[in-house]
Amino acid sequence: MKQVAVVTGGSRGIGAACALGLAQTGMDIVVNYRENKDRALEVVEAIRSYGAQAVAVQADVSQSSQVKRLFAEAVTAFGRVDVLVNNAGISDSTLGMMITDEQLDRCIDTNLKGCMYSCKQAALLMMRNKRGKIINLSSVSSIKGLTGQSLYSATKAAVNAYTRVLAKELARFNIQVNAVAPGFIETDMVSALSAAKQAEYLELIPARTFGRTEDVANLVCFLGSGKADYITGQVMVVDGGLGIG
Ligand code: NAP
Repeated sequence: MKQVAVVTGGSRGIGAACALGLAQTGMDIVVNYRENKDRALEVVEAIRSYGAQAVAVQADVSQSSQVKRLFAEAVTAFGRVDVLVNNAGISDSTLGMMITDEQLDRCIDTNLKGCMYSCKQAALLMMRNKRGKIINLSSVSSIKGLTGQSLYSATKAAVNAYTRVLAKELARFNIQVNAVAPGFIETDMVSALSAAKQAEYLELIPARTFGRTEDVANLVCFLGSGKADYITGQVMVVDGGLGIG
């Protein structure tokens, strides 16, 4: 039976690389996006050129009802969900004492609640099939304190804790849940940083270079494959050494 992956935030950056990588392993893909329909359709077209099937589904993961609809549309399109890549996320670079209530809500709603809404819907489907893989995108910021990232770090640290407990709860259903924690990867998220901030972060990376989206997608594809059936509850870092204590 052909496997099906849902990738949230699959329209660009790391999510797009994961969607393309999983399609190259033979899976059909649901490419979720929030507003960039054109970019999502480009990813869908690229996936189809590999001979896999794909659909683009708009849904804001911070809204529970929209996440329910996303998974309902995935089932309508392909009948099942085997892999969930919880990639949709936003960053925040505000100093802790300057964070507004709106920034707090937006970041927690997207990065933490969005992840939890999607995990819940995927788990309910996967439990019926007695198999599944969930990969949550965390960040090296969840384990290393970087100035200006208090809110973002807190949401990602919560994702790590949630991943570990969900892995325990779902293990008996043959569902593996892991988190991947990238360092700085060349995407819109990093190019939005000022040149000075980028130079400051480069200095901190032992490899002295930002990562490529494929560096993260390769690990996500491994964790989504049968080669990772005995790995669960882990937070795996892909960061060129940034997080080394
Ligand atoms: P990105 O280039 O900014 O792309 C973000 C993606 O998430 C887009 O596809 C966007 O959709 C989608 N998205 C954002 N908010 C959404 C929402 N509410 N509902 C649905 N989709 C939403 O991000 P990225 O750099 O690839 O990062 C991807 C993930 O990796 C994030 O969870 C991020 O925290 C994590 N991460 C990234 C880095 C890095 O250095 N880049 C480092 C550590 C962790 P639209 O295109 O429609 O806007």
